[in-house]
Amino acid sequence: MIDHRRLGRDLDLFATDPLSGAGLPIWLPAGAAARHAVEEYLRDLERRAGYQQVYTPPLGRRELFEVSGHLGYFAAEMFPPMRLGEADDELMLRPALCPHHALVYRSRGRSYRELPLRVSEIGGMYRAERSGVLGGLSRVRAITLNDAHNFCTLEQVGQEVSEILRLIRAAHAALGVRPAGVRLSLRGSGEKYVGDDAQWARAEDLLRAALDGVPYTEASGEAAFYGPKIDIQVRDAAEREYTLSTVQLDFDKPERFDLSYTDADGERRRPVMVHRSLAGSMERLFAYLIEVHGGAFPPWYAPVQLVVLPVGDGQAEAAVDLARRATEAGLRAEVDHSGSLGARVREAVRRRIPYAAVVGAREAADGRVALRLRDGRSLEPQPAAEAIGLISAVVAAHSGDLLPAR
Ligand SMILES: [Zn+2]
Repeated sequence: MIDHRRLGRDLDLFATDPLSGAGLPIWLPAGAAARHAVEEYLRDLERRAGYQQVYTPPLGRRELFEVSGHLGYFAAEMFPPMRLGEADDELMLRPALCPHHALVYRSRGRSYRELPLRVSEIGGMYRAERSGVLGGLSRVRAITLNDAHNFCTLEQVGQEVSEILRLIRAAHAALGVRPAGVRLSLRGSGEKYVGDDAQWARAEDLLRAALDGVPYTEASGEAAFYGPKIDIQVRDAAEREYTLSTVQLDFDKPERFDLSYTDADGERRRPVMVHRSLAGSMERLFAYLIEVHGGAFPPWYAPVQLVVLPVGDGQAEAAVDLARRATEAGLRAEVDHSGSLGARVREAVRRRIPYAAVVGAREAADGRVALRLRDGRSLEPQPAAEAIGLISAVVAAHSGDLLPAR
């Protein structure tokens, strides 16, 4: 595997600039196109699984993070507060989305009929990482997390966690993630954990039950400060292991935010909060995806899916027309006119573009194209509409292959 920082530069996916600051990468058009496709896929997957999507601000009053416990347990990783004027409250960049999602939950009274209530957002959060550890997309200060908080009853936790693990497997299959292992992260020694022993024991039992039949290892001292979690680990090009997807149980924040629902018997009861991320932050996810695929993303999130190569000037118009039709069909397509055909084919392969459509005089005359795949295979000339249909079918299937399944 090649370091994602080098490939990110070679493929114009993202840039860093000392003027904007370390750990604050800038997503260039190619990287942004790929990320947009991935974000849309994740939102769609969640919608179909009954999630409700929200937007919440990436900063809030200091008091919000006092209530959430982040200032008590997590302050070292947060940016210092900002004071705008004497009369104003102090504002802080958030280190996590949970506090705002707790406010979504309690924006009105809740009934047991609404549970599980699944609140999701691909949202911004900030970590005051020291400059020495920052690099590329894998350690950053501005993080965009694929996050959700599922509020449910204690009886629903097992089913809810199993369903989350199913979604994680689906997302990994589509993205081409190859997990290195599953880890049950438990409390270690020390005082950085909230909640009593009975709560922790119960949460650990629930997660162990949800992992029934899944091979996993246990890691003490890796839990979140509010509860144990299941982490799906991956390895980067340097063989460093890190967490990509996670499911975490939390009995603490529902207490802190005084969350409740009205049960069938009319009693007020407290929900459990499940923090979960299917694919982690967009930054870490792409650091991983760039490396594991060597920049050759599955067609559905390739920055450019089809490049059209007219053999000569006589086919320029037909090439532009084909790219326009592909774009109208929802594909990301462009025309490359410059240089010899051989050089343009090599450039398409260098950019890991999955499909190149060569348009010569004969193809232009009868409305056909010859597709060349980035793995070197070539297809017989076919009607333009069929070629566009073939690529669209692969994209719609979120497949990692370049040709539709037969
Ligand atoms: Zn959370």
